[in-house]
Amino acid sequence: MRKFILSIMASVLLVLLVTGTAAAFSVEDVKAMTTELAESEYYSPELCMRYLEYKQQRVEVISYTVVKGDTLIGISGEFGVSLATICESNDIENPNYIKIGQQLQFPEVSGLLYTVLQGDELVALSEKYQVDYEVIWLANSLDSEALTPGTKLVIPGAELPNPMLRGTSVSRGIAKVNSGFIWPLQGRLSSTYGMRKGSFHWGIDITGRRGTPIRAVAAGQVISAGWSGTYGYRVQVQHKSGISTLYAHASKLNVAKGDQVSQGDIIAYVGSTGKSSGPHLHFEVRVNGRHVNPLSRLP
Ligand SMILES: [Zn+2]
Repeated sequence: MRKFILSIMASVLLVLLVTGTAAAFSVEDVKAMTTELAESEYYSPELCMRYLEYKQQRVEVISYTVVKGDTLIGISGEFGVSLATICESNDIENPNYIKIGQQLQFPEVSGLLYTVLQGDELVALSEKYQVDYEVIWLANSLDSEALTPGTKLVIPGAELPNPMLRGTSVSRGIAKVNSGFIWPLQGRLSSTYGMRKGSFHWGIDITGRRGTPIRAVAAGQVISAGWSGTYGYRVQVQHKSGISTLYAHASKLNVAKGDQVSQGDIIAYVGSTGKSSGPHLHFEVRVNGRHVNPLSRLP
């Protein structure tokens, strides 16, 4: 059904394109969409499509030269794209190894910058990377189905292998940043940060029994506590240095907006509220408003 609606949307867009009528968006539309993209736990194909509409279809390619002190995790956080996006777009095998002066190219949204090979067809690429044909078409402002070998193609939302899962443990290979955090909950890591079933998962999931205490990873101030759509009951804490953390799907909250918390304080209890398939904690970390992989900040 979702796909069906999406293809109708895409067809309408194509018609608009062909007839030369650019979709018009009000300032409110763009504001609402930006907020939704920033707050949504899931980066859905619908959202992706609306982003493309807003961008007037074309997705830009970012060129970046590595400077001293850069890490791929850091670059990924800075530009708001997944680590897999940068690794796969630049054929990087080991996400811990980059060189000063190295040139990186990647799409401005998570996905793949793909170099067209002889014999490539749009339909096959769409199937391989699980991205609608129309999305690729619009993202690259294509005007023909014929692809030229050697040219670059943006595939937004492409299903990519998680570069963090190359090692034996999910934490291995992640560039750690010493943040002084503690784990908010001890439990099994059931989902990592990154692409998951065609949408972007902005945090990590840790399973726990309903009612188990969830603890603040560091001292800070509660900036929101309450119900929030797919997140269910969630708490957001602002820490120093522009870092904030989010704890979602709680059964019960133990703090209110404005409260000061110390590291280790119980802020909520594990539950399965909002869009959740069982008791777990969904945990996110943002640096200056941009998501980063929580595993890069946890000890
Ligand atoms: Zn989650």
